[in-house]
Amino acid sequence: MPLTRRTLLAATAATAAAHSWPAFAAAPHAFKHGAFEITVVSDGHLVLPTAFLAPDATPEQRAALLKSAGQTGETYDSPTNITLIRAGSDLILIDMGSGDRFMPTAGKLWDNLKSAGIDKSKITKVIFTHGHPDHLWGAVDDLDDMTLPNATFYVAATEWDFWQGDDATRGLPAERAGFVTGARRNYAALKDRVKMFKAGDEVLSGIHAVGTPGHTQGHVALALSGGDGLIIGGDVLTHPLISFAHPEWRPLADHVPEQAVATRKMLLGRLVADRSKLIGFHLPYPGTGFVERKDGAYRFVADS
Ligand SMILES: [Zn+2]
Repeated sequence: MPLTRRTLLAATAATAAAHSWPAFAAAPHAFKHGAFEITVVSDGHLVLPTAFLAPDATPEQRAALLKSAGQTGETYDSPTNITLIRAGSDLILIDMGSGDRFMPTAGKLWDNLKSAGIDKSKITKVIFTHGHPDHLWGAVDDLDDMTLPNATFYVAATEWDFWQGDDATRGLPAERAGFVTGARRNYAALKDRVKMFKAGDEVLSGIHAVGTPGHTQGHVALALSGGDGLIIGGDVLTHPLISFAHPEWRPLADHVPEQAVATRKMLLGRLVADRSKLIGFHLPYPGTGFVERKDGAYRFVADS
């Protein structure tokens, strides 16, 4: 069935009925996956312009979708869900949140870990999905000192090279100018403790990097072994309705829009085919659930 406004409205209404939007929580969400113990901790939320979400939509489509998602103002709140993995003697963090210098509503990771009784100094390893502020800038504190000085950091070489190189500043939209400075500041602090990997690598035992470029040039998702699989999706699928019902739309946050479209479709197809669980960084907290086919596209079904 083609995606018409009618089917879209039906899909969004059904999805919206299953949740309250948006949901944030300081209390961590924990579950087991194969050999891993997973905890999702909130870093707070971002406040973003609603106009960024779906510039390809007609005004009617946009209004209907945003209403279903409870996002009717000029800005909307985007959750930031950080995944912590206990694997044997390792405690592995996936992304580090916004830190103190991005938005006052974000950078709550360390406080929320502490409230949950998790000592951040016990974190041994960090894997980054990409170098945007809400994923990387928590790597240093307000004095530019490392927040986890004893950890080892894993960065996709393509992403590292992108932010350090001239392509990061060439044709850069004004709203992203600070992103390059910030990425370089944080990478510089980590550089002696960084290990590079490439898409397809088994970064750590049972954790593979899935090449998912487009949102940024070197973006990776992480695939955890066990059962039907678990995908930590980073920013491939950032909106609970739009990313699934309209993977072909091009949100303004994507660096390479057409590549991001192809990546979204690839990952959605894989999530359905493998029946893998998804943790979405910006989906309603804790961002865990599954993907189903729906009316010629997809929908996200939260599982908590
Ligand atoms: Zn993000």
